[in-house]
Amino acid sequence: MTYQNAFRDPETVQRLLQSLDDVTTRKWSVMEICGGQTHVFLKYGLDRLLPKSISLLHGPGCPVCVTGVEWIDAAVALANRSDITLLSFGDMLRVPGSETDLLSAKSAGASVNMVYSPMDALTWAEAHPAKQAVFFAVGFETTAPAVAWTIEQAEKRNAQNFSVLCAHVRVPPAIQLLLSHPDHRIDGFLAAGHVCTIMGCKEYEIIASRFQLPIVVTGFEPLDLLYGLYRCVVRLEEKNFGVENAYSRVARDPGNSHAQQKLTQIFEIVNRNWRGLGTIPQSGLAIRERYRHFDAKWRFADSLSPRPEQSEICPSGRILQGLLRPDQCPYFGVSCTPENPLGAPMVSSEGACAAYFRYRRKK
Ligand code: SF4
Repeated sequence: MTYQNAFRDPETVQRLLQSLDDVTTRKWSVMEICGGQTHVFLKYGLDRLLPKSISLLHGPGCPVCVTGVEWIDAAVALANRSDITLLSFGDMLRVPGSETDLLSAKSAGASVNMVYSPMDALTWAEAHPAKQAVFFAVGFETTAPAVAWTIEQAEKRNAQNFSVLCAHVRVPPAIQLLLSHPDHRIDGFLAAGHVCTIMGCKEYEIIASRFQLPIVVTGFEPLDLLYGLYRCVVRLEEKNFGVENAYSRVARDPGNSHAQQKLTQIFEIVNRNWRGLGTIPQSGLAIRERYRHFDAKWRFADSLSPRPEQSEICPSGRILQGLLRPDQCPYFGVSCTPENPLGAPMVSSEGACAAYFRYRRKK
């Protein structure tokens, strides 16, 4: 059996499902935070195998889904400048801004290139010294260290034509926001193992203690998810609140100190607007003043004029809070499809709506 298949072994899946059934005495709603975990639950049909009394809620852990409209608008504005090439992960290209998306802007003549890493963007900048290269940095604590390291490299290499449009966000403040909502239905959380690999578990311990619930650090294979869910339900049944690491083969406290040091060196924590959720205090990472010559917002401030927030037809905020399931949205699969998305959760490979469209669409 390969290493990967060991985490998909049907017999172990069956045993875990039975254990979950045995231990469950009442209804529980558990939220998986990460969009990647949502996709694995749906792809393998695990959600349909669970005891009826356990409901999964899908959280805001899709970086593309939560990036505010104003960042898309800023990226489009920069890409439309004749001296700039905007470099972005592919997922961001089709996310709607207030007027257009990056792919449509590219079709209309804007300079937009897809890259797979921030270092690809720096390499591109070095190969094209006549152009200003702006990397559109989105994502959580998992992707931010690589961006921080790239900015440090850009300084060491004296890259004059490289900068970053920095829209990074932090997970723990968003969890606190969800738990502060009067209508929330969350009994426990599966925390994303890759975020804890970087940041450790300390911030989750504070949340678990404050809101009196279990948070289980969970991996991404089917058995990881079922085991994390099982441990979460055991703790709920026992009223044993706190953080448990069910992904210790990868995530360890206190996390990756080198990555954390890079984050602190390059970024400062700021308030940030999340798409559909509004401004969440202390939830964003911005480039420190010491490195501001690599901050596209500072370097090209004359091209960036914030627009007033526009109300969107897409109710993604309720999806991201677990208050609405994608297939309960009136636009799902009708006017909103991956080909014609009305909102970011239908675009991203980690978006909950894209997962439901792919794996749960009624024929
Ligand atoms: S189905 Fe479309 S419109 Fe509805 S929440 Fe998802 S992305 Fe938004």
